[in-house]
Amino acid sequence: MPVLQFTDKGIYCAAGDFYIDPWQPVQRAVVTHAHSDHARWGHRHYLCQQDSVPLLQLRLGADISVQGIPFGEAVYYNGVRISLHPAGHMVGSAQVRVQQGSEIWVVSGDYKVENDGLSGQFEPLPCQVFITECTFGLPIYNWQPQGIIFSSIREWIQENQRAGKHSILLAYSLGKAQRLLYNLADAVPRFYVHGAINAAHQVLLANGHPLPPVHYITPDTPKADLKDGLIIAPPSAAGTAWMRRFLPYALGVCSGWMQVRGHMRRRNADAGFALSDHADWPGLLQAVKATGAEQVYTTHGFSSAFARYLQENGIAAEEVRTAFGQEEEEV
Ligand SMILES: [Zn+2]
Ligand SMILES: [Zn+2]
Repeated sequence: MPVLQFTDKGIYCAAGDFYIDPWQPVQRAVVTHAHSDHARWGHRHYLCQQDSVPLLQLRLGADISVQGIPFGEAVYYNGVRISLHPAGHMVGSAQVRVQQGSEIWVVSGDYKVENDGLSGQFEPLPCQVFITECTFGLPIYNWQPQGIIFSSIREWIQENQRAGKHSILLAYSLGKAQRLLYNLADAVPRFYVHGAINAAHQVLLANGHPLPPVHYITPDTPKADLKDGLIIAPPSAAGTAWMRRFLPYALGVCSGWMQVRGHMRRRNADAGFALSDHADWPGLLQAVKATGAEQVYTTHGFSSAFARYLQENGIAAEEVRTAFGQEEEEV
């Protein structure tokens, strides 16, 4: 029996009788991070990294049964050793290392190798089998260093101010929005956020994460106050009445998909910033090689293209079907 297997409920460890990021209700779920396609409702018990606990409670209810553990600490289920390690994707995001005897499997969850200052530094984990996401598993996806991207965002905000326009950035509410807040805090005097972002923000602030204060935008927020600030909203706010009341504005989209020009036009955006919380092509390759894995399974994203590339380069790789990848970073 392999350490982990792919079932219709999710990635399953038979010896330890637990699932990793299952998409059907199960007794014991080990959850990599709080995004909704990985942390689903209805499990009897959740195990996650300790910083994920309040985010899981925010999304799934305060009454869930959940155990949070620090990075690197081991928990045993029926003698199977489980530990969580930084994935660098968002606050509390973890890779799951599962060890049975001398056999080690690692499930990456979502990850990026660049350190954003909030999510921890992705940790390469030697293993025999690595299960990797590949949201951006094509060679065209090659991110610029984040410092360069944040500089262009700062310039764009100044340009809009000179043109008398409000700046609105669309960013996924959990992960990307906090990354913008953290990295633009020195350049923006006031942040205004949509309700979806505010909810997560208050939970993270209450738990000690180093984020700047934000103003929750209400219909009563005076327009004059927004002048030198930055408005951050989730992608779902695009084109809504909520957004139109900030006219005149310039709209910027922060997403890895912005690396491909057509995506920006489709979003009616004035600016696209290819800032992603997922690894780019070189990042995926770097991560896979660092594990030294003899077998790789590729999950959501460009999983067949990435598996094929690994095979051609002498690494046994196979695509597996999962239910991941249905929310963040969608076009
Ligand atoms: Zn995610
Ligand atoms: Zn994912």
